[in-house]
Amino acid sequence: MNITTWQSREACAPLERQKAVLHAPATDELVLQVLHCGLCHSDISMLDNHWGMTSFPLIPGHEVVGRVVSVGAGVDPGVIGQLRGLGWISGSCSHCCQCLGGTGNLCSSLEATIVGRSGGFASHVTAKQDWTIPLPKGMDPADAGPLFCAGITVFSPFIDEAISPTAHVAVIGIGGLGHLALQFARAWGCEVTAITTNLAKANEAISFGAHQVKSIDQLADQAGRFDLVINTVNKPLNWSAVMASLAPRGKLHQLGAVLDPIHLNAFDLIMARRSITGSPTSSPASLLKMVEFCVRHNIRAQVEHLPIDRVNEAIERLRRGDVRYRFVLDMHEIK
Ligand SMILES: [Zn+2]
Ligand SMILES: [Zn+2]
Repeated sequence: MNITTWQSREACAPLERQKAVLHAPATDELVLQVLHCGLCHSDISMLDNHWGMTSFPLIPGHEVVGRVVSVGAGVDPGVIGQLRGLGWISGSCSHCCQCLGGTGNLCSSLEATIVGRSGGFASHVTAKQDWTIPLPKGMDPADAGPLFCAGITVFSPFIDEAISPTAHVAVIGIGGLGHLALQFARAWGCEVTAITTNLAKANEAISFGAHQVKSIDQLADQAGRFDLVINTVNKPLNWSAVMASLAPRGKLHQLGAVLDPIHLNAFDLIMARRSITGSPTSSPASLLKMVEFCVRHNIRAQVEHLPIDRVNEAIERLRRGDVRYRFVLDMHEIK
């Protein structure tokens, strides 16, 4: 089908409105008419080809909320008309050990929504039905998009690391991911510390659920405190201070895609059985749990809306860190 897209011809170039042809949905795929799409820092990493895996032209956008408008031959046509969300992953093989075991986000042949595929800054996008998540009743489609990348990224450690409600949790970096991590940690029942480079965000961090806010420079005062540190920052930190802030058996869960090596002292791991983990988004099952949890606890992304024709302005402002806390591009005026 013919679609309208916002695509980049080469690395670091602005997006241009262009017509394109979307492939017909495969047997297990469906087509979403995009209503809203969040802007994630990974879109910028892909636009700039920071990870060396971008094919141009690139149509970014992987925090999609859309309406099902057509389905492949193997998909129940009864889903047409549903509102669904789509994140970083748009397909996996469905038959390997990881897919069958419920961790399809670890499938070796998974397909990412904007890697070799056409993403959500478009009038329409295709994805496998299993990776499109029906929006539950009570979830506002206008600000739900960021849950499907930023949200699930910070929700997954609570499920996968079996975090206890009695845990002391710190979130480093109060941005698109961090402001959702604070809400999840608070609703989970944890004691929540926000750690920021910008104390001007302290009052907002408290409004998102932090019990206390500390500057990154004050981390050394928190030695031995945290059962879980969720690090959303993609720049090098004082890793020894981060590790020292962990309680015995505490975990550093790394989500910021820092490109420099993370330097660790072996004794930071040995002496108190501390560990470092990471995760790539999560499975469809965790996505389903997350959207239900969000509605129950009124967890939502704080977003700034712009029409899709102003997507380059949103990209430039995100490059400067000038957004609280996520841009959502609105598509509904596309003809
Ligand atoms: Zn993302
Ligand atoms: Zn698989």
